[in-house]
Amino acid sequence: MTCNTTYSDELNKSLEFLRLTISLLTKHQIPMSPYNYQMGYECVSGRCQSLVVDLNQLLEETETPSDKELEALHKQYFLQDEAFLEAMRQEIRRIITCLLKDLGYSDNQLSHYSQTLTQFISILDRQASSSNMLSETQRVIKETQLMEKSHKNLEEQMASVIAEIDILRKELEQVKEESKVDTLTGIANRKAFDAELESSILFSRESNKPFCLLMLDIDHFKIFNDTYGHLVGDKVLRYVAGSLQHNIKGGDFVARFGGEEFTIILPTTNINGALTLAEQIRDAISSGKLTDKGSDTNYGKLTISVGITQFRASDLSHELIERADKAMYLAKERGRDRVEKL
Ligand code: GH3
Ligand code: MG
Ligand code: MG
Repeated sequence: MTCNTTYSDELNKSLEFLRLTISLLTKHQIPMSPYNYQMGYECVSGRCQSLVVDLNQLLEETETPSDKELEALHKQYFLQDEAFLEAMRQEIRRIITCLLKDLGYSDNQLSHYSQTLTQFISILDRQASSSNMLSETQRVIKETQLMEKSHKNLEEQMASVIAEIDILRKELEQVKEESKVDTLTGIANRKAFDAELESSILFSRESNKPFCLLMLDIDHFKIFNDTYGHLVGDKVLRYVAGSLQHNIKGGDFVARFGGEEFTIILPTTNINGALTLAEQIRDAISSGKLTDKGSDTNYGKLTISVGITQFRASDLSHELIERADKAMYLAKERGRDRVEKL
């Protein structure tokens, strides 16, 4: 059993209790120590009935109780309270320290809140009484509720921001899916190529006009990447894309097929015309100088192998691609930096 040690008596009332306590303690020749005063105060104010009963019983048994008896009684009613308070202080300290760790924000409102919590810890460290703790706890709760409210607003804001970002993400994904441009080189991508090839096939069948397909693959590009790094490799891919575009004319269609492979559709062009253009492109690339102006680095010679083929009326798109690819591998087999036809 412990007494409630929250004291909120008004001054006049407490003065009256003071007189009564002094009278009680003096009557029984009890020293006016803070502990004894606390017990006397509790009894005369009638706040803690069980203490009143126990103290009256002690006073009946012995006219003047010993220090030991009084200490034991105080311990029974108040020191347990202290132990309980200390346990509570520790628990609150632990929770608040964890909370403070989580509040790693620089936000003004949050830093004010962190200060309140830090102050609360120092109050706990000063062995605060239960009444102090209660008022401080109420203050912290109030501030926490305010924080919770403002955090709810923050959460709502965050949720709407997240929702907006999610919409953007989906839109971006859709744009990416629908995109016909290769992001690295800026020329047409595989998706655009597939569509263009289908319409070239349709047009050729309808018009009975020839067209050719070129497959171009950079030679030993892996070694180049390994030697100079992927970023330089990316620059080379952009350079080759630019060079291909530079060497074609109006209706021709150039795309990045994938990796270090490119493809060109040459409408209304037969195999001889394709061969001429392919040689021209191959020559342009192999005679170009690959240097880094900034560091004056010379990257050596860059070459490509090209496979060409002409559309046959019975061809499906994948058959045409496979044949152009085979011709390109033939060029590799036969020494690279060359053009082969199938
Ligand atoms: P080959 O002459 O037989 O074609 O040899 P290769 O090394 O060019 O061919 P391989 O298929 O062994 O390697 C292709 C290399 O192309 C490997 C890869 O690192 C590089 N590559 C593919 N895509 C990219 C890219 O987007 N950026 C860069 N930097 N490198 C790429
Ligand atoms: Mg390749
Ligand atoms: Mg290659």
